[in-house]
Amino acid sequence: MQNFQDSFSDHLVLQILSMSKDAVAVYTTPDLHIRFASEAMLYIWGKDASVLGKTLEEAIPELEGQPFAGLMKNVWKTGVTHSGTGRAADLKVDGKLQTFYFDYEYRAITGEDGRTICILHTATNVTERLRAQRVIAEKATSETQLRLELAASNQEMQLVNQELQTANETLVDSSNKLAESQSYLSSIMDKAPIGICILKGADHVIEVANETILKAWGRTAAEVLGKPHHEARPELKGQEVYRWLDEVFQTGITKINNEISVMLKDGDGLRQAYVNSVYQATRGKKGEITGVVVILEEITEKVIQRREADRIQDMFNLAVKAGEMGTFYYDPRTNLFSANETLKAWFGLPGERMMDLTLALNAIKEEDRQQVVDGIKRALTFGSGGQFDTEYTIIHPETSAPRMVKAKGRAFFDSEGNALSLNGTLIDITEPKREQQRKNDFIAMVSHELKTPLSSMKLYLELLQQHAGQQQDPVASGTLVKAVRQVKKMVVMINSFLNVSRLEAGKMSIEKQQFNMKDLFAEIEEETQTTVTSHLLTYQIETAMVNADREKISQVVHNLISNATKYSPAKTPVTINCYREDNYVIVSVTDKGIGVKKEDRERLFEQYYRVDADKGEQVSGFGIGLYLSAEIISRHDGDIWVESEPGKGSSFFFKISAIDLPG
Ligand code: ADP
Repeated sequence: MQNFQDSFSDHLVLQILSMSKDAVAVYTTPDLHIRFASEAMLYIWGKDASVLGKTLEEAIPELEGQPFAGLMKNVWKTGVTHSGTGRAADLKVDGKLQTFYFDYEYRAITGEDGRTICILHTATNVTERLRAQRVIAEKATSETQLRLELAASNQEMQLVNQELQTANETLVDSSNKLAESQSYLSSIMDKAPIGICILKGADHVIEVANETILKAWGRTAAEVLGKPHHEARPELKGQEVYRWLDEVFQTGITKINNEISVMLKDGDGLRQAYVNSVYQATRGKKGEITGVVVILEEITEKVIQRREADRIQDMFNLAVKAGEMGTFYYDPRTNLFSANETLKAWFGLPGERMMDLTLALNAIKEEDRQQVVDGIKRALTFGSGGQFDTEYTIIHPETSAPRMVKAKGRAFFDSEGNALSLNGTLIDITEPKREQQRKNDFIAMVSHELKTPLSSMKLYLELLQQHAGQQQDPVASGTLVKAVRQVKKMVVMINSFLNVSRLEAGKMSIEKQQFNMKDLFAEIEEETQTTVTSHLLTYQIETAMVNADREKISQVVHNLISNATKYSPAKTPVTINCYREDNYVIVSVTDKGIGVKKEDRERLFEQYYRVDADKGEQVSGFGIGLYLSAEIISRHDGDIWVESEPGKGSSFFFKISAIDLPG
């Protein structure tokens, strides 16, 4: 103790020790008087500083019956350090006796004479660590167990695998057997949409050829199966196919053809076909070439279609290039448009790429301008179908030369329905229009010239008819009635022609007067009683006042009745109705005749439009009656239309405004 005190003061030592985070205690007598205990040690013990100066056994009475005090006394005696790891000690902490686990050391500090001066007791509470270790240990056991289980199921799986493999082998075996049989192979390939054939050996003996390839070849299975290719298909002589087969068989290099032309058998002759094909060598177990597989896709139709489209495109390009067609592109968002050179030349436009639409509109003949603007507007309205189709006259700004054009175009829209562009073409129709004009002029002249002699002839015939009546000559009378009827028809026809030419010249005038439709129909009925004897006409007429050109409306009705009798079998009924509906008068003429097909219905009212009649059904006519009728009705701000079921009959309608008379 002397030496110890010599080297360090007590106080200093204790200061050092108290700085330790570890639990430390110092005992200075053989019966273990506690000289010092660090905070950590007091904490372990569950005691406070009052234990200092007491013996261990006094301070921690619960240690009685536990080995620690004995062990420590032994250390004092022997000077031999004692330590333990993970040892359990029961301590009364928080008033409860609990088991803790400690790593600890009892070290005797001895003097030079070997006698113990004091015991340094260090301890670490390892209860938590041990608990964690226990958990790990427990886990480890369960893992081991798991591993064992896994191993067991692994073994099981191996067994299953083995079984599977055996099953697989059996399958492969049987499928091999199946594959060997030709019927199996062809059953897969037969229905394939692509042509397949398998050729064996240097002679290319045809072992398999599916339906598709046989069809392309123009051959039956019986004709080709089992035969060398060149014998089965002699029509290929002189074509390259034989050579390709030999080459692939000799070199093993796959040959691929894209869109090649071949002559294939077609009945007794040959046809040109286009195909994509692959020739590939088949090999045996040792890699030796055993034959050739041919895969063939016939693309004749596609190629022809594409070439036709290309040809049309070429023609179109040529027409555009040759200056026969104008092309334009209009962007409604900027109001700018661009055009090809032809179109610019027609409109007398500057060479700029993009220009304002008004520049072009200005070159359009004034009377036609609004109609073009309306047409463009309509096409650019989403939901209109986007079609632009109109005819108008361009007046060249410098030469003032007129040029009639037909414009056709189409508008494009974005997904929200905004118009993006209007693209189209223009063709010059000045010449065809002039042609039509010449035709009209000629007809007008002839009609005009015929009118006077016809009128005289009608008069003479009527005189004769009267005379025959007086003479009581029934044969002459009957014949003359028929002659007068025919002349009347001719007069009507000539009048129509004259009207058309007047119409064209803008000279057809509408002279309106107020009259009752019932009176007009009374006259018409009387006339048709003598002129129409072939059909059974029925009139159902209501009173209705109109303000219209009596003459012209009469002409329209006559036209419709005449058509009804022309285009329906003799002795069938024709019904004529006239009735009020709201503010309109509606007239209809219904027959039980041949009817009008849907595609013709719209166009019937065009000038010179006649339905292409089936052979033998051709009825004489010029295709102007309805055109003229439509023009007359439109000049009355009315409507004309047809409803029809082909083969069953037609109803032609027109409506014009009715008027109400006071009283
Ligand atoms: P057309 O002198 O040829 O009769 P229209 O202008 O009167 O000339 O008629 C034009 C075409 O419309 C006729 O050629 C005919 O094909 C068809 N058509 C007119 N009326 C009828 C009808 N009642 N039934 C069937 N087709 C008709």
